[in-house]
Amino acid sequence: MLEIIEKLLVLQDRDKQLFRGDAELDSIGPEKEMALMKCNATLAALKDAEAKTKDVEVKRKELELEVQAYNEKIAKYSTQQLQTKKNEEYQALTNEINTCKAKISDLETEQLMLMDEAEAASAAVKRAKAEADEVKRMVESQVADLDGRKENLEKRIGEVEAERDRLAAQLDERILANYERVQKLRGENVVVGVSHSACGGCHMKLTAQVLVTCKGDKELAACPHCSRILYFTRDMDLTAPADAGPGNAF
Ligand SMILES: [Zn+2]
Repeated sequence: MLEIIEKLLVLQDRDKQLFRGDAELDSIGPEKEMALMKCNATLAALKDAEAKTKDVEVKRKELELEVQAYNEKIAKYSTQQLQTKKNEEYQALTNEINTCKAKISDLETEQLMLMDEAEAASAAVKRAKAEADEVKRMVESQVADLDGRKENLEKRIGEVEAERDRLAAQLDERILANYERVQKLRGENVVVGVSHSACGGCHMKLTAQVLVTCKGDKELAACPHCSRILYFTRDMDLTAPADAGPGNAF
């Protein structure tokens, strides 16, 4: 194998690591956002539940005041009854008192229903609080993990970038420029093996001339269809197409 091919394959491997590293890095932000959104949703649910208990409490106080007002009316009518000597007036006041008592009875029924509501609302707050606390704990640990992953990844990417720069500096400028041009066009597989007389990148059949150049192992050969840089090793005809390069470290 040509030395330049070997160097290009190492470069290509580092580029693949960088592609994958960048993609992983890009995914961390949205993952973090989703986690925080989940946290905010449970906090919003807790706020709703707390608002509901406040509503019930306000309503309970209103009912108390209404009952109090009717009781005051009853007291007033009773005093008036003591002061009147007219039978009709006395009877009218009795009717008023009875009306007030009926209203109070209705209000007391409402108060009982409200007590059930208050109980349910306070249980809902308890549940929402437990849920919010649990999610908060989970999200905090998830965010810490993501931050740690991001930090490691950035460090690793920095290392690979530096290594990539060193490798690139060792290459002939024109060859590097060609590699980078094809990479822009075709993506991360730039240096590809020949497999069954076809380009390992675009899988088009290669001409005899190109195959001879490849096998000659003396100069670089390019696929006439996709411009990828081709290389040939003896075991290639027997094995599946390989896009080569050592494994990645991410
Ligand atoms: Zn091709």
